[in-house]
Amino acid sequence: MFPRRIATVIVSILSLLAAASAADTSGVPSPAARMERRMADLRKSPLELTALLYRMPKGADLHNHLSGAIYAESFLEEAVAEHLCVDKSTMSLVARPAGAAQCPAGLVDASAVPADNTLRNALIDAFSMRNFVAGPQSGHDHFFDTFGKFGAAGTGTLVAEVAQRAADQNESYIELMALSGGGPIAALGQTVGLTDDFDATRRKLEAAGLAAQVQAARAKVDQMEQARRAALGCTRNPDSAACRLVVRYQYQVLREFPKQQVFAQVIAGFAIAAADPRVVAVNFVQPEDGYNSMHDYSLHMKMVAYAKSVYPQVHISLHAGELAPGLVPPDGLRFHIREAVETGQAERIGHGVDVMYEKDPAGLLKQMRDRHVAVEINLTSNDVILGVKGERHPLPVYRKYGVPVALSTDDEGVSRSQLTEEFVRAVLTHNLTYSDLKDMIRNSLEYSFAPGASYWRERKYSAPVSACAAGRKSAACADYLGKNEKARLEADLEDRFAAFENSRE
Ligand SMILES: [Zn+2]
Repeated sequence: MFPRRIATVIVSILSLLAAASAADTSGVPSPAARMERRMADLRKSPLELTALLYRMPKGADLHNHLSGAIYAESFLEEAVAEHLCVDKSTMSLVARPAGAAQCPAGLVDASAVPADNTLRNALIDAFSMRNFVAGPQSGHDHFFDTFGKFGAAGTGTLVAEVAQRAADQNESYIELMALSGGGPIAALGQTVGLTDDFDATRRKLEAAGLAAQVQAARAKVDQMEQARRAALGCTRNPDSAACRLVVRYQYQVLREFPKQQVFAQVIAGFAIAAADPRVVAVNFVQPEDGYNSMHDYSLHMKMVAYAKSVYPQVHISLHAGELAPGLVPPDGLRFHIREAVETGQAERIGHGVDVMYEKDPAGLLKQMRDRHVAVEINLTSNDVILGVKGERHPLPVYRKYGVPVALSTDDEGVSRSQLTEEFVRAVLTHNLTYSDLKDMIRNSLEYSFAPGASYWRERKYSAPVSACAAGRKSAACADYLGKNEKARLEADLEDRFAAFENSRE
């Protein structure tokens, strides 16, 4: 503990020096310098720090699984609305047989849950990490098992909850992993099969009805967007914080499925993202340490490379390196992030926890820096799933090598967390200053898949592009912001920073 305390003191002194040097010539500290000092002072008062960080502008949450973001309480309400049943032997929701007036014998009607606090509490614990104590079941297994327990409830109407929570925390953009390739798309892959000839297999998938699945996914996005806007009242009140929050979607390939089903999902995901601007990227999900995830990893990366060659405009973010020593054999820790970057052409890496166990980690980190591959850092999730935290977490190493990083939530509902908690952890555990956070927040929009060019001349964020050099109100800048959504979000973030730094709350 002693060395960390010294490090904390040094960081506090450094941030005070930075604050002092940021004073203008009259000796009056700038608003940013005042905030730097205030945050340094509040390290001693985590609750006050939490309240301050709650209000802080946070840019984007780039790594957020919709079903994992929903709190158990909301799933239970949805279960009542959808007339689901509860299987108490597994603490999971199950669909009522079509047309059945009652739940089958042995199952409980979900409508009974609100009046039964014992059952309700047990279900909330089963659907999340609340009250979890590792025993015969690990945190990793309990975490991933939750998805099967609440999975029968629809998430389509629940995007609003996630959007509202993000807006309440002064976020301006989220990418939700909300579409997945299970069901009919995986079934299509099972029928078509897979050979080494990816091109021929893709054509067979297209002939077997892939286009209809693309349409079905787009209809699902329509439905989620309509439900979100209706629940938030966006027609009546388009300028509310929650309605101004930009929501985009990612398609999730289920990597634990057999390889012929994974291939169909990859092709479908790229086709969907190419067809619908609201779907900005393809990602890979499910436990990376599972049998198919490990066994087929290199093949999966080749599938992504192939799909990218067919649909070059589609963005790629890949969960990679969500592993820890002991979870898999040492060889399994040696190549996932590198292959995601070099073969899978990932523009962003989700987690990247095991980076220092990769072959030539310094070379890999420099490559990520030079290629501008950002890392989505999920501190709470890495703690509860992998047991990786504190000095064993690679966040400081990524920062040391100049790899862009941004904080994200992963599964805030399952973790019983929210983005603010990730910021609190980052400040208190990794001794980050206000300007460190600001840099990461600017990264979150710069490395988002929002369309258009950047507001910034370069990625040190010191000056805007030449169109905006004469100020935000110039005609050239207004025109530029009108054409570039990313730049618009980034300029808006700067306004939010100014308001935050000038506030006297
Ligand atoms: Zn994730």
